[in-house]
Amino acid sequence: MGMSNLTRFEASEGTRATTLDSILDRTLAGDAISEAEGVTLLEQTDAGAIAAIREAADELRRQQVGDTVTYIINRNLNFTNICEQHCSFCAFRRDAGQEGAYWLSLDVMLHKAREAVERGATELCMQGGLNPQAKQDGSSLAYYLNLVRELKQACPQLHLHAFSPQEIQFIAQQDNLSYAAVIAALQEAGVGSMPGTAAEVL
Ligand code: SF4
Repeated sequence: MGMSNLTRFEASEGTRATTLDSILDRTLAGDAISEAEGVTLLEQTDAGAIAAIREAADELRRQQVGDTVTYIINRNLNFTNICEQHCSFCAFRRDAGQEGAYWLSLDVMLHKAREAVERGATELCMQGGLNPQAKQDGSSLAYYLNLVRELKQACPQLHLHAFSPQEIQFIAQQDNLSYAAVIAALQEAGVGSMPGTAAEVL
């Protein structure tokens, strides 16, 4: 289905509107868009353009999955709020030693994971602050890998939706590794997917 049934973006800059409509039409026809075209969509600031993108996304959702809504039972495990970063919007982070700062022990994390399974969870969503003390044998990645392996060993059926792009960047910087190496190692250890949060990276 093309954009004919949808509100077309009427921009004063005709070429930009044509480009946008053409990208959205091809998306709705099932074509993959290029990275450059994705950037073009992200760069739109005009309210009409944004409405057209939103409408196309909704139409694509309707085409692909209809109106069926599904859900899973998961548990969020925010294992530490100690964070070296100071994102201006964040009310979660604390400095080490500050009132309210916490860092869960492995035993507590395993207990929470088992408890989640007992309550019917199929997924653990795990994220935490950027804690430079969270290291094993001097390695940040080793700490995270141990966490993942222990959790998967205790609850192999749990899907681990874990560690935001911000945390991947943090681990890579701490251990001087590439993002690809960190992601591959975590995946190998048992991480199933990456949360899409931490938009501050952008
Ligand atoms: S990285 Fe996460 S926990 Fe740390 S300050 Fe930013 S939003 Fe908060």
